[in-house]
Amino acid sequence: SITIDNVIKDYGTTRVLHGLNLDIREGEFVSLLGPSGCGKSTLLFCVAGLEPISDGQIRFDGTDMAQRSSRDRNIALVFQDYALYPHMSVRENIAFPLKRLKVDTQTIEAQVKWAAETLGLSALLDRAPSDLSGGQRQRVAVGRAIVRNPAALLMDEPLSNLDASLRVHMRTEIKRLARELGLTVLFVTHDQEEAMVMSDRIAVLSNGYLQQFAEPMEVYRNPANRFVAEFIGSPK
Ligand code: ATP
Ligand code: MG
Repeated sequence: SITIDNVIKDYGTTRVLHGLNLDIREGEFVSLLGPSGCGKSTLLFCVAGLEPISDGQIRFDGTDMAQRSSRDRNIALVFQDYALYPHMSVRENIAFPLKRLKVDTQTIEAQVKWAAETLGLSALLDRAPSDLSGGQRQRVAVGRAIVRNPAALLMDEPLSNLDASLRVHMRTEIKRLARELGLTVLFVTHDQEEAMVMSDRIAVLSNGYLQQFAEPMEVYRNPANRFVAEFIGSPK
């Protein structure tokens, strides 16, 4: 589980997260939904430990994240542009996080094989990223993220660079993968439809404040306020 406890984030004198509270259960798929600039990526970076928080606490399975090294945080990230290493093959891209952790060669091979099979990439392992389609590249980025069996997966608008039909397909794929692996997922999107179809619960943010945190149907039927109603497109 990931517990976000009264988290405040300031950039200089500007407060961008105003004391957020979120409790994400083990194996739960939670979307962070809100307009551009509301603080979605900032919160994700804070959870990943890439940005220090200004106040509050983030706990992972009960332990303060600040007490954990990045190695045993065991949280994987997929970004919007999911930059793959262009000079490395698909195989080397997926293997990279394990190489960096100095995992033995046999384990690396087995894990890469598993990740590639899980994501339908087995036939593409020797290709260069430049010879892949957008959806295939995206799957390699997900493969690189899951190869070390993370407990949690953080994704920052991973589908926004894909065309409409591929985006819909990848929603299903990511959802299936998360369920199969029992991953706790924090998924950033500004697309309300995406959040509705993918999430167990949706956290709606605006201007660094949490507006509502509830199941998709609850957010739709009983929006907490006018902002949520308008953003979700609830019936008036
Ligand atoms: P988008 O949907 O456009 O990606 P977002 O919800 O991810 O938006 P953030 O990137 O988290 O928004 O930004 C939240 C606020 O913090 C914005 O007002 C942004 O200008 C500000 N901000 C983000 N990064 C920094 C930084 N490094 N220094 C100062 N301000 C920042
Ligand atoms: Mg962002």
